[in-house]
Amino acid sequence: MIHSLASANKYLISLLALIASAAFSQKPFIMVLGVAQDGGYPQAGCQKECCRAVWPDKNLHGSVSCIAIVDPESQESWLFDATPDFAGQTHRLAQADDGKASLTGIFLTHAHIGHYTGLMQLGREVMGAGKVHVYAMPRMKDFLGNNGPWSQLVSLQNIEIRTLSDKKEIELNERIRVMPFRVPHRDEFSETVGYKIMIGSKSLIFIPDIDKWQKWEQNLVEVVEANDFLLIDGTFYQDGEIARPMSEVPHPYISETMELLSTLPLAEKKKVHFIHFNHTNPVLRPGSAENLEVRERGFRIAEEGQKIDF
Ligand SMILES: [Zn+2]
Ligand SMILES: [Zn+2]
Ligand SMILES: [Zn+2]
Repeated sequence: MIHSLASANKYLISLLALIASAAFSQKPFIMVLGVAQDGGYPQAGCQKECCRAVWPDKNLHGSVSCIAIVDPESQESWLFDATPDFAGQTHRLAQADDGKASLTGIFLTHAHIGHYTGLMQLGREVMGAGKVHVYAMPRMKDFLGNNGPWSQLVSLQNIEIRTLSDKKEIELNERIRVMPFRVPHRDEFSETVGYKIMIGSKSLIFIPDIDKWQKWEQNLVEVVEANDFLLIDGTFYQDGEIARPMSEVPHPYISETMELLSTLPLAEKKKVHFIHFNHTNPVLRPGSAENLEVRERGFRIAEEGQKIDF
């Protein structure tokens, strides 16, 4: 009797220890810090219906597409892209884990203005940062190193560029791995990559910019099936959305992507979050027919401040 009481006590104590450790070791998570295309929302020069109602109310403004990994255990965080909204986004990120996680590194996708120009905030004029790790592909690295004002960030060691290779994994710590992979896009100044973020046994795909799914070597349906979350190019809803020829700025329309994935079961569709919305994209407006359509068909629309738990 005494023996069994003692072992019951022991069992109870180890159970409590297990509960306590589960409560205190929080897994890394993803935060969405912006969902708009490079120009933000509303967009410079736009007085049309898409932006007119949004200009007067700052609460309706949307930041440029950006996500981050936050690791509460190591108190580190990593940004994916340095956008023109860098100040507000890093401020929000700093508060994500009760102000404990600091910015460890920045992964860049490509040299279009919405994706790297936020780096300027790290320089002498503003933060005067010290050796922030900036992960970039080889052409992107050369572009930063050989052109002002970015070259000054390198020479003053505000940033330390770490060169990435296509499909080569990087281990950030024992819980988190990141793999860049090239995607077809308008590569005037740099390559363009998407990222696979692996946390524990789960993975997330981030592709804010790609020309068309058909031009990519991978099959999107298989990519959805092989991963747990996807944040992918939703720049335009459909053809004819902007006055310029849309072939000059190719992107997969949301309508095309939904069609391409239409045969997948609901559980697969739910993994897909659209992001990187042009100011003309009606999904930016809650309650629009297109916003409802996306969700009724089982897909998701990424939201600023959204947290994705692994
Ligand atoms: Zn972009
Ligand atoms: Zn507009
Ligand atoms: Zn781009």
